[in-house]
Amino acid sequence: MYYIGIDLGGTTTKAGLLNSNYEIVQRATSVSGMLKTQDEILSDIINLSRELMYKENITEQDVHSIGIGCPGITIPKEGFVISCPNISFSNVDMKTEIQKHLNLDVYVENDANLAALAEVIAGAAQGTTNTIVITLGTGVGGGIIIDGKIYRGSFWGAGEVGHQVIKFDNGHLCGCGKTGCWEQYASATALIRDAKEAILNTTSTLLELSEDNITAKTIFEAANKGDLVAKDILDNYLYFVALGLTNLINVLQPEVILIGGGMSAQKEKLIEPIKNHISSLLSHGQDLKTEIKCAILGNDAGIIGAGLLGTTFNN
Ligand SMILES: [Zn+2]
Repeated sequence: MYYIGIDLGGTTTKAGLLNSNYEIVQRATSVSGMLKTQDEILSDIINLSRELMYKENITEQDVHSIGIGCPGITIPKEGFVISCPNISFSNVDMKTEIQKHLNLDVYVENDANLAALAEVIAGAAQGTTNTIVITLGTGVGGGIIIDGKIYRGSFWGAGEVGHQVIKFDNGHLCGCGKTGCWEQYASATALIRDAKEAILNTTSTLLELSEDNITAKTIFEAANKGDLVAKDILDNYLYFVALGLTNLINVLQPEVILIGGGMSAQKEKLIEPIKNHISSLLSHGQDLKTEIKCAILGNDAGIIGAGLLGTTFNN
């Protein structure tokens, strides 16, 4: 049996065909984003799916279902997309539209939820039942799995961990319109912003190391080489990451929290200090029992989670 997973991103629509071992055996992509209309994106999804089946020499009968991950709010079982602000894709009956062309079961889901589902079924959180997967990238995304199932909340929008407010006074303005959101302190964007601000007034090797192009990676590198400015910024950043995670642990007490996104390439250099900060932030006498690890599926998590979405529904 095969599974089709579609990851509808802000700039690219990525499609993958999974085999019964949940491995991606075929891939196809097309350009997406604001330049395309809703109808064009829908035809892309249909064409990419046909391309995958053609390449593998299979038909719809060999495919369990198709899952589509969207950067927005969806009603998964109805196959309905409520809104995806970044790609102007809203109020789309995806299931009906796709089934006009493909004889397949169709499911849709928020992309961060799918990344979490993928890690639980086929990644670093296999075998766990209460799991949170956080993505530290341009923003901060989150997917919550409770009792092995995606937790969507009562109105389909749960898991927006990036907008928990962690700073009340003079907090940075967030894209959501509020100030002091976790995303403004825990995203890669926030780390880079702080580094750029700090080196304006101090002596640091950060600029030489990165040739005026500071990234999360170059900040970690500078800190490893003993640059005090980089060390300071990084420690402050990891404290804020830990602060938001401590809130999540206090509310949900998950078995494991996985950290994904570009930042997870730093592995133990990221995880160890975060664990230390959480231990000191937890209330007195409370041990850190939640395992904190890096996610392992990387950019494929979206496709894998989308492909496997249909297996989590009882039809
Ligand atoms: Zn916000």
